[in-house]
Amino acid sequence: MKKIVIAIDGTSSSGKSSFARRIAAKLGYIFIDTGAMYRAVTLYAMRRGCIAVDGTIDTECLIAGLPEVTIEFRPNPVSGNSDIYLNGENVEQPIRTIEVSDRVSAVSQIPAVREQLVELQRLIGTEKGVVMDGRDIGTVVFPDAELKLFMTADPEVRAMRRYRELTERGEKVSLEEIIENIRKRDQADMTRAVSPLKKAPDALTLDNSRMSQEEQMVWVMEKINKLTQGNS
Ligand code: C5P
Repeated sequence: MKKIVIAIDGTSSSGKSSFARRIAAKLGYIFIDTGAMYRAVTLYAMRRGCIAVDGTIDTECLIAGLPEVTIEFRPNPVSGNSDIYLNGENVEQPIRTIEVSDRVSAVSQIPAVREQLVELQRLIGTEKGVVMDGRDIGTVVFPDAELKLFMTADPEVRAMRRYRELTERGEKVSLEEIIENIRKRDQADMTRAVSPLKKAPDALTLDNSRMSQEEQMVWVMEKINKLTQGNS
């Protein structure tokens, strides 16, 4: 079977990462959550003191620290997923907090941050057999990806998903806070100057507001089989 690159972009909490993870598991592909990479850099900047309490970023401080940032994905034998490591530390949990979510869109607008992470993403994808999700995968990182998806869902559905995810992990957040965070992030991600979130012209739209995980899988496998069948 021919191995391909699958690029999944879309709005915040549209279910991209869990869908990408399931596709990768089914195909035996590598899954890369690029949002986690931007979150890890944000966490690094917060810890380094480059982000004030009001959210103002000291860009020079952040850029000066970038050469010290190493990001890796390592398999987690317990969950069966891969976890993200920042300078050798598993940061899968701390990058998902609302504090990081509130600051990540501002950090991801900094060109030097994008350059460093896009380079790493391309390096990971050179071998093909990869499912990568983010905001600019089909437009910037892998414009030649064989399959591009643009995922979205109704705002209420997305907010409820994120709310469940966070409260199940014991985070104290309100639904209103999450709705506001999703709204602001989508706005910032779509209107930024560098690599804004937009649908690539050749991407297929998947609105999963009312689709089960199984229905989404059937839908995507049909596309994947067409692209990989008969080629070795
Ligand atoms: O996917 P997730 O919601 O975890 O992404 C967090 C943030 O990282 C997004 O809101 C966006 O600002 C940024 N991001 C990005 N480009 C990507 C992936 C994520 O700018 N490819």
